[in-house]
Amino acid sequence: MDLVNCINDMVNIFDETNGAKYMLVWDKDNDTIRWTRVLMEYLGVDEVYSNNARESIIKYIHPDDCAKFLAGVNKTLQGEEDSLHVNLRIRHRNGTYHNAIARGRKLIDSNVFVGNVLILDDADNRDVLTNLNTFTDFLNVVNDAIENNQDFIMMAIEIDHFHSVNSVYGFDFGNRLLFELGICFKSLLKGRGKAFRLEGTKFAFYLVGKDIEVARKLYGHIKALVHEFHLDGHVISIDINGGAIVSNEYHKDYQAYYSSLLVALERSKDARNGQLFVFDDDNSSGYMEDLQLIEKVKASIFTNCNGFYLCYQPLISAINGTVIGAEALLRWRSDEYGNVSPYRFIPYLESHPSFYQLGLWIIRKALSDALEIIKLKPNFFMNINISYAQLEHKRFKNDLMSIMDELKYPKANLQIELTERCKNLNIKFLKSELDYFKSYGIKIALDDFGTGSSGLELVGQLPLDSLKIDQGFVRDILNNKTSQVIVDTAVECAARLGIVTCLEGVEDENIREFTHNYAVNYHQGYFYSKPVEYNEFITLLDKQWINTKPRLINRNGGAMSTTSILSRMPGGFFIYSASDNERIVEINEAAIEMFGCETLDEFVELTGNSFKGIVHPEDYDRVQNEINEQINNSESEMDYVEYRIIRKDGEVRNIRDYGHLVHTDYNDDLYYVFINEIV
Ligand code: C2E
Ligand code: CA
Ligand code: CA
Repeated sequence: MDLVNCINDMVNIFDETNGAKYMLVWDKDNDTIRWTRVLMEYLGVDEVYSNNARESIIKYIHPDDCAKFLAGVNKTLQGEEDSLHVNLRIRHRNGTYHNAIARGRKLIDSNVFVGNVLILDDADNRDVLTNLNTFTDFLNVVNDAIENNQDFIMMAIEIDHFHSVNSVYGFDFGNRLLFELGICFKSLLKGRGKAFRLEGTKFAFYLVGKDIEVARKLYGHIKALVHEFHLDGHVISIDINGGAIVSNEYHKDYQAYYSSLLVALERSKDARNGQLFVFDDDNSSGYMEDLQLIEKVKASIFTNCNGFYLCYQPLISAINGTVIGAEALLRWRSDEYGNVSPYRFIPYLESHPSFYQLGLWIIRKALSDALEIIKLKPNFFMNINISYAQLEHKRFKNDLMSIMDELKYPKANLQIELTERCKNLNIKFLKSELDYFKSYGIKIALDDFGTGSSGLELVGQLPLDSLKIDQGFVRDILNNKTSQVIVDTAVECAARLGIVTCLEGVEDENIREFTHNYAVNYHQGYFYSKPVEYNEFITLLDKQWINTKPRLINRNGGAMSTTSILSRMPGGFFIYSASDNERIVEINEAAIEMFGCETLDEFVELTGNSFKGIVHPEDYDRVQNEINEQINNSESEMDYVEYRIIRKDGEVRNIRDYGHLVHTDYNDDLYYVFINEIV
């Protein structure tokens, strides 16, 4: 898999998981453009790939803006500029022009440009996939209701495991399903409110009045609807989770409402019973308790952070099973509430101004503890979660640096974890802040990769050291093919960009064993240890979780997959699929050269990209028989087969193939791996 394929796969996956963005991949060498589905929908592009890249793209840009866009892309590709950032007008499929910002950068060592379009004034204020109102509209509607003292209910629902619909029926079907659901949601509302698409498979509803029964009924109808939904002759059955909040006197602004709504949705997911979780006046016991808890937690910040403490969870080298670092995780406890999980207060507090003080307390405490460990293990690093509100604070840079200077903490032993909400920051600002930290040797990790908005374009644009793949993909990796593909592709892509990967949520031996197939660098999860307090953490430092399978690593300690090693070797190498018309699925340059071809395209043209097209027609039946005989005798290995090939220049050569019969973890298809030489 070369880099372009790798990126294309990633775009596919983002399409499939509905984390889709307005993105494109412009491959200058092949003169093609690959669009994401949502961008295609927006512009009215018909095909996923467009040839004649330049002509294809300028159709969608205002004629006055084309020159600056094209010049910007060229400068980026020629390395004259780090990245592209231009304001321009792009053409919606209905023919109207809209202000947008195009951003992007060159993929390392390639002639490939990965771009992202931010549309500033969306064509008709509609979500392009579902035609519902958007997230921004939702906040505006709630804001207006608060200002006009109106009673309302906010409800959010999220579809569970939508990616399984995409993987079974394809993402075109998935997108259509979302569109049809949008229509149904509107009709179920019967004019009593409005429906919105927030992002991915999250929808919101604004209902007039305070009668929670209205929300419960609507939720019940939606649940019944999606439990047996008919589309294109298929019957789809999906589950949803939902949260709701009734207007009240405690929430002062729409942001407070919105974060409470998300918390309600999370509660519904946690309960795993698919019921609507409601924050309202009646069930206020739980809800008021929450608000009181948050008030108490907040008050602790003002009393020297009394009640807060940190737990540390080890980060384990996937290569040798030793502890290489830790993630600091915040906890709070009081006599009244006992030990409280950060999930219960961080979402509320993170953007509150008082959190800034607490954030500095966390840094100081975590680094002081880490300093003790570094005396024993000089390479030990501490991961600290940093919220966007911290990064945005104008004193943050100075405060962080002065704590480190004061403690004499070695900068390379700190890694900042950026939560996904950081993408809310202006990307230029974010990049410049991160560049500053990097210039001092501080490392940067992107947390929860693959969820919400932590996506590919962030990976391309930010100076990252590691990618933490969200536990959601890891937890079900044994049985969920989509998760397997996402993890595999993310790891491969990151490795090529020189970024190390961490798997979160390695919960048990089975997951650990299975994920050993992936070229991941480090692991985190309950299998090794839950987050524990400092005294217990230091007893883990000498532990080693022995690996049963050896791992391949390069000189820099980075993990390598076997295919990437073979693709660089001087001898020929190819793999073909026995289950799919002998199609060549992987071939290296040396093998292409053996056929007298200079490029993969030439090889494909010469051989039809199949093993049958490789072997001299007079030798083909004999070769097949020999392969079968050898395989039948030894199950998966063969000695070698010899046959003639006809090169591009017409010359006939004798080839010797040493082969293996293999299959992958994803399916039962059979592949032959051949290492070949000319004899
Ligand atoms: P996170 O940064 O994604 O942290 C990982 C969470 O996954 C932790 O939850 C950890 O206990 C949990 N976890 C680790 N291994 C496993 C596993 O194998 N299975 C399962 N099911 N869970 C596992 P925790 O400690 O409750 O933290 C929750 C979230 O709160 C964190 O998610 C992070 O977003 C936030 N948070 C925690 N501490 C801080 C902090 O100091 N600052 C900021 N800004 N956020 C924090
Ligand atoms: Ca984290
Ligand atoms: Ca995480």
